[in-house]
Amino acid sequence: MVIYPICSSSKGNSIYVANENGAVLVDAGASFKYICKSLTLAGFLQSSIKAIFITHEHTDHVSGLYSVTKNLKVPVFSSKPTLKKLIVKNCIFAGTRLFEINVKTANIAGLRVSAFRVPHDSVDGLRYFITYGGRKISICTDVGCIDLNLQDKLKDSDFVFLESNYDEDMLKAGSYPAAIKRRILSKYGHLSNVEAASFINKLIEFGVKRFMLGHLSQNNNTPQLALKTVISYLAHSSKTYNKDYELDVAPVKNNGKFYEV
Ligand SMILES: [Zn+2]
Ligand SMILES: [Zn+2]
Repeated sequence: MVIYPICSSSKGNSIYVANENGAVLVDAGASFKYICKSLTLAGFLQSSIKAIFITHEHTDHVSGLYSVTKNLKVPVFSSKPTLKKLIVKNCIFAGTRLFEINVKTANIAGLRVSAFRVPHDSVDGLRYFITYGGRKISICTDVGCIDLNLQDKLKDSDFVFLESNYDEDMLKAGSYPAAIKRRILSKYGHLSNVEAASFINKLIEFGVKRFMLGHLSQNNNTPQLALKTVISYLAHSSKTYNKDYELDVAPVKNNGKFYEV
């Protein structure tokens, strides 16, 4: 499998996962034009995309969904309440085939896509892990807090794409209104760098080796700070960067770098 994070930040999210037979997009938080340009940079074809899986209805995950469904004419999978919400918000091109996934597993070109739930303030969000050829990629952003269920879903992954949204000091000292700060910090908001580090620490103990931090806030975080915070947290737990684990940060906009899993 390959994973190619097309874009990742609190402004726009879309991740391409493929095998030799086809691909799925997880979220469409960028225009069709941008997604195509980004795929070309990495040498992938837009025609490889066979389905779109939507995590939740927040704009940074669906802003390009209308243009993508209009052009690609592939089915969209999500929970029933999310699909309903997307129709009401006019985010999906008329005639697009819609499928509820919930607890079922979808098989797209041999990629087995399974859904799980996390605490986040959307109608009925799903996150996904994708398995193929004995390998497992988990994609987990927009998470208010880590619980045992989440640990259980991710602990046998070969690659975990995890939210590392904000630095707590930057958020608290920043210019966001108090209500927005409360929402981000809450159990239904987002994961901080330290929360991501603590979860990665647990997952390494279960044997997970490869991580990518994503969905960074452009106001309350930087890639360097997220990386430094996680690496130093793990060093305190005697885990060495590039020896006990691999870690990278997803770019806000990708320039062609993808990962084989
Ligand atoms: Zn988001
Ligand atoms: Zn969200």
